[in-house]
Amino acid sequence: MTANSATQAPTPLPVAPRVVALAGGVGGARLADGLAQVLPPENLTIIVNTGDDFEHLGLYICPDVDTVCYTLAGLSNPATGWGRADETWQALESLGALGGPTWFRLGDRDLGLHLERTRRLRMGQSLSLVTQHFCRAMGIGAAVLPMSDDATPTWVYTIEGDLPFQEYFVRHQCQPKVTGFRFEGAERARPSPGVLEALDRADLVVICPSNPWVSIDPILAIPGIRPAVQARRVVAVSPIIGGQTVKGPAGKMFLELGITPSALAVAEHYAELLTGFVLDRVDENLAEQIQALKVQTLATDTIMKTPLDRARLAKEVVEFGLRLSHSS
Ligand code: GDP
Ligand code: CA
Repeated sequence: MTANSATQAPTPLPVAPRVVALAGGVGGARLADGLAQVLPPENLTIIVNTGDDFEHLGLYICPDVDTVCYTLAGLSNPATGWGRADETWQALESLGALGGPTWFRLGDRDLGLHLERTRRLRMGQSLSLVTQHFCRAMGIGAAVLPMSDDATPTWVYTIEGDLPFQEYFVRHQCQPKVTGFRFEGAERARPSPGVLEALDRADLVVICPSNPWVSIDPILAIPGIRPAVQARRVVAVSPIIGGQTVKGPAGKMFLELGITPSALAVAEHYAELLTGFVLDRVDENLAEQIQALKVQTLATDTIMKTPLDRARLAKEVVEFGLRLSHSS
């Protein structure tokens, strides 16, 4: 019997490699979930951006870590990619009726997690410890590591002034024209426990199809992480398909920074780190220019609509990565 890739989960990888994924929120979580489907849990570490984290309503919110955890646990809202399925909004309605801020959407179920995380952080637990506890409670086997336990808030420089990331992203709906970014305090931050160890042991590092500017660059800005990534075999998956993002402002950011958004632009952005690059079939015409950067390419279907799409892409990415010769 032959497997039909459209309807059946891919068979597990024969010899399980150790994989570290770098991820932001929605795009990162999709591929991370695919990797979790095809690798044994002990072989997968996901290092997640915490540059989006902020305090709101007295609570400590970690949008990308939560998106990754909810997705891996099968709790995420499939319509949005962020937040939880079966969500209700009564707390937010009550808050709004009292004149409180409702621009950042927090559902009732989601709020429970933020309350408990904030309580634990106030007791002195580190973000990585709290995340580890939550993963265990949600039945997540892979290691989900916040990039750092030190706060490194992302600032978006715009022609209308400097904005904290969530103000730019949610309150201003990514409208102000971007001129640059700052990862505040990153130069003094330390990678969270286990991050450098996982990178040192990795057979392959996968840069998920996350926003290069505000999801992956903040991770690489933590001292020690970039050189540890660069020492490994690294494959990135393009978040830009046919010059467009699937979702979010990555394409708009490239344009506003004077770069035509494309899979090539993403490959150039990461070039010095890359061994291989995965681009969508629709961008196959760019493969030659990417190979000219001394980066090997794989063109395949990279839109992940279903859990099966995620697993199929993850398996292709890992198999491609392991085939690559690596010389650094
Ligand atoms: P955020 O933190 O929620 O903004 O999420 P990420 O930074 O992890 O992901 C945002 C990026 O994911 C966007 O640039 C999207 O184009 C990309 N993305 C979302 N879904 C997909 C998908 O199915 N395939 C690919 N290739 N990219 C995706
Ligand atoms: Ca994010």
